[in-house]
Amino acid sequence: MAKRLTAFLLCLYLILGTTLPAGAQEPVDALRSNTTITVNGTRSPLRAYDISGRVYVDIFEIAIALSGTENQFALMWRDRNTSLHIISDVPLSAIGFNMSRRIANAATATPADINVLLDGDEVSISAYSITGEVYFNIRDIAAVLDFSIDWDTAEGVFGINTSQSFSESVVTRGIDPSKPMIALTFDDGPSIYTPPILDALEQYGAVATFYVTGNRVQRNRDIVIRAFEMGNEIANHSWSHRMLTRLSEERVRQEMITTNDAIESVTGTPPSNMRPPYGSVNQTVRNVTAELGMPIISWSLDPFDWRTRNANTTYNHIMNNVKDRDIILLHDLSEPTAVAAARLIPALIDRGFQLVTVSELFHYSGITPEPGVTYRSGVTDD
Ligand code: ZN
Repeated sequence: MAKRLTAFLLCLYLILGTTLPAGAQEPVDALRSNTTITVNGTRSPLRAYDISGRVYVDIFEIAIALSGTENQFALMWRDRNTSLHIISDVPLSAIGFNMSRRIANAATATPADINVLLDGDEVSISAYSITGEVYFNIRDIAAVLDFSIDWDTAEGVFGINTSQSFSESVVTRGIDPSKPMIALTFDDGPSIYTPPILDALEQYGAVATFYVTGNRVQRNRDIVIRAFEMGNEIANHSWSHRMLTRLSEERVRQEMITTNDAIESVTGTPPSNMRPPYGSVNQTVRNVTAELGMPIISWSLDPFDWRTRNANTTYNHIMNNVKDRDIILLHDLSEPTAVAAARLIPALIDRGFQLVTVSELFHYSGITPEPGVTYRSGVTDD
């Protein structure tokens, strides 16, 4: 019976296109969210849970919080068919007691068997039962009731804004242009050593630039997508990692264009700059990159990680030499570099450096990089 119910629910979620995470038919843990929730800028005492990275709230608490706003709504439970009715533009009348629907025997979060109707029409709001109460996905509620939500992950604040129609915005990093910043760059990947680097970047809210080899993009597309969606920059490091200065102009053009296309086909965005293998540049490379509108990015700090293959040496070299606006050359093709990166990222942040992408480094340094021109750092007169 439970199995049939789960299968039915899964089908329902799939049909309705809700945000039920893939593979979430098994019970998942819910953690009380520590995020501050604001409604139109005022702190609101809403309880929230994180389930698989998504936020679930008590919809009655949302109804109370939105009472009197243009998104106010009333709620009604129908016990017989386990349905929740949302009545729009009506304030929730009864306030002051817990109106959460109680469901017995739920220790962890399990998908809740609830039909949700808005003014009589079925709508799709993903719901979980957590410790006996039903919690609804805040994003789905916002979409159905048409209010905007803003995440500021750096400040740990989640904002509901009823005067704007549904949109989501996520503020993850605030960069202060007057403070030191550096760009970590990782060449020659993606590889199996890229995900641990992404883990470290994610953990500390940092980003880097990945100069990918074009012929590795398609078979590592999940890694590229994850890196891109985290806000990292994906840039061009040629298709086959040949020394471009030994190739004909037509071959160089081919190396560049096939890589740009490979990146765009996976991320939807073509790269804005390139780094030639071995840093080798000649007039042909300058001509082709100028023609394709791509600046050439070199580096200002090279710890020779590819040669020493020693995490301590790489770590020490960078920590002893790093300065504001550096572009740091690393390679996500070896384990020692991934180990070094996991230590470097928090250590560099501790020392006051903001970790930004190459394009961000130029942007915040007031540089507009020109196609076909080589840049080594975010210092203007470099
Ligand atoms: Zn390389």
